[in-house]
Amino acid sequence: DGAINRIAAGEVVERPASAVKELVENAIDAGARRIEVAIADGGKTLIRATDDGCGISEAQLPLAMSRHATSKIDGSDLLDIHTFGFRGEALPSLGAVGRLTITSRVAGQGAFSISVAGGEMSAVRPAALGGGTIVELRDLFYATPARLKFMRSDRAESQAISDVVKRLAMAEPFVGFTLRDVTGGGDGRVSFRADPENGDLFDALHGRLARILGAEFAENALRIDAEREGLRLIGYAALPTYSRGSSVAQYLFVNGRPVKDKLLVGALRGAYFDFLSRDRHPAAALFIDCDPQLVDVNVHPAKSEVRFRDPGLARGLIVSALRHALAEAGH
Ligand code: ADP
Ligand code: MG
Repeated sequence: DGAINRIAAGEVVERPASAVKELVENAIDAGARRIEVAIADGGKTLIRATDDGCGISEAQLPLAMSRHATSKIDGSDLLDIHTFGFRGEALPSLGAVGRLTITSRVAGQGAFSISVAGGEMSAVRPAALGGGTIVELRDLFYATPARLKFMRSDRAESQAISDVVKRLAMAEPFVGFTLRDVTGGGDGRVSFRADPENGDLFDALHGRLARILGAEFAENALRIDAEREGLRLIGYAALPTYSRGSSVAQYLFVNGRPVKDKLLVGALRGAYFDFLSRDRHPAAALFIDCDPQLVDVNVHPAKSEVRFRDPGLARGLIVSALRHALAEAGH
């Protein structure tokens, strides 16, 4: 039912950046090596995600658009989340709040497309596409004027999209990302680009962080690699001298998912407590990986908070690993 879909959709899609997040996560789940996001007018009139992933078959296209028809896990174990997608809600939600068209091709099959607008689904039609998937979302919230009003300026929404793309690009250094602003038509302007990184995970991550946070961060970054009772922590944390006046350069991930979590931010702060004054904030990109059973990432649909089964363990791991790295660097 359209109204119910629209209400539920608001939980998943708060603004253009949340739509971009869902589309890029889907492309990552599909095994894409290159992902391009094009936006117009801060994503309000157009968001288009193009990937070279596995594609969606003709038979699966209508299911992908249907609420809860496609969840990548079978609801029986909501904690056991290995891929980003687990709710089967993003595409139906986007189809409820905008004009959504998916064109896709599975290797060895034909290309097909399907559209949804106002919750009404079109038939599946043959299309032209070399491979992978293009998801195009036009006129976000056109049917819900109340939500339209809550959107900020094109500039602010573009900034939020850029932030989302960069966070996901950090978590996937072997995948290439391009963000293009096509406001006004044509090829537009590339606002962010990161080619797939090479080497081992630390090389790739270091290269990707240099690309996104800049050479100065990379030069001042201490390598973090620690493990405790099933929790693995890797990443880079900057020397105290490279601290910032705000927390803008703090990037935290749990099982590949960008999070903004008080516990983890507090642990980061705690690790630098002896080295930074109150108005300085450490810069770091840290990745915690663990058995999905040890952390609940399903706290909120926007998925930026997490709940560890043992919060003290997560905190202790971060504080001790960072203090150790700082001590080795002479602090
Ligand atoms: P979820 O990601 O939670 O499964 P979504 O609504 O985000 O739900 O996506 C529905 C389904 O559509 C996915 O499970 C996947 O099978 C398919 N899908 C969506 N986007 C892509 C993509 N870019 N490439 C391949 N398959 C996709
Ligand atoms: Mg998804």
